[in-house]
Amino acid sequence: MAEFGEQLPIGKAKIEFLVNEQGMIAMKVSGTNFWGMYQIAVSYPSGEPLAVVPVTGMGVPLPPYPKPSLLAWIMSDQHGMWGRLCPRCQTYFRTNHVIDNTACPYCGNVSNSLSFVTQAQARYVVAFCNAYIEASNTKNTVTIDLETVTDSTPEWKYAEERQQFHFKCVSCHTEADILGEYGWCPKCGKTNGREVIMTKLKGLEEAFDKADKNIADRAERGQQWEEMNSRCFSHFEALGRHLQTIFVMFPATPSRRKEVEALSFQRLLNASVSLEQWYGIELFKNVSPDDQGFLNLMLNQRHIIEHNGGKVDERYLSQSGDKKARLNERMRIGSNRIRHLLPLMRTITTNLLDGFESLK
Ligand SMILES: [Zn+2]
Ligand SMILES: [Zn+2]
Repeated sequence: MAEFGEQLPIGKAKIEFLVNEQGMIAMKVSGTNFWGMYQIAVSYPSGEPLAVVPVTGMGVPLPPYPKPSLLAWIMSDQHGMWGRLCPRCQTYFRTNHVIDNTACPYCGNVSNSLSFVTQAQARYVVAFCNAYIEASNTKNTVTIDLETVTDSTPEWKYAEERQQFHFKCVSCHTEADILGEYGWCPKCGKTNGREVIMTKLKGLEEAFDKADKNIADRAERGQQWEEMNSRCFSHFEALGRHLQTIFVMFPATPSRRKEVEALSFQRLLNASVSLEQWYGIELFKNVSPDDQGFLNLMLNQRHIIEHNGGKVDERYLSQSGDKKARLNERMRIGSNRIRHLLPLMRTITTNLLDGFESLK
């Protein structure tokens, strides 16, 4: 796939407006490397997009669309994807879903496909309209070179260092290219969260088995377990923040909405109480009170490793429930703790996703 920030593989397609002897205009598309087209009804002569019109088969009449208008074709890149710009969060993505309603992969906003037309596509549609007018006025063939007018340069608003991520929805098979990993399917709105986090947890489980078998050095092992502990919780938090984009859209009083916005998946115990109170989501379903305490302990260990060089402080002593720790000693994580933690992360992740997906 083309990386974001580079030129996209638009190909060498062109559109010709051919004028016959009777002065009728026919359109001809030629070229390579584009995979599909979709059509937009465009007001004539202003070039303002009016509606996305589904393409029908040969001989099948088009569904009703606003008239008078021209039908402008928008070409995909060679992966069959088009750029889209969310009208709510103004963030760019690419997808092969371009008709009907579209969900933004980032903020979950659902709007008509037309409102996701990018600025580059809007410019192209105007060029399309002008070419048609020129052909009809001059009675000469007019050609638009797609490379010059389509969105061959993606309009990314995110920081450059973030990576492009491609996913295919497991429910409806729609594909999307987004920045970051967690996203909503542009067609059906389902989250890709389960696939993303389960792949990450599986990777951690495999890395743990390998390190446990192959690393003998005590200090090196300890460092591995500290990193794995940290990654377990950061993956979980990223999933939580992604789901939060939908939680904050549920009808709520202003004060409740503030609480939902402030919900932190880093404070696991508080989050579990809130999620159960607000939505009936049981984060700790099938997690014993001992294991809940253990999760809290591991979170606190992560906190002092990341913020206090692993040195036990007063806060850790009061919050972690760790009876053996002594003030100012360097805390260590053993492999048995990671072995215990990994399946628990799977349980709370599954509980969160099952609960979320059961909301109607
Ligand atoms: Zn959005
Ligand atoms: Zn889908």
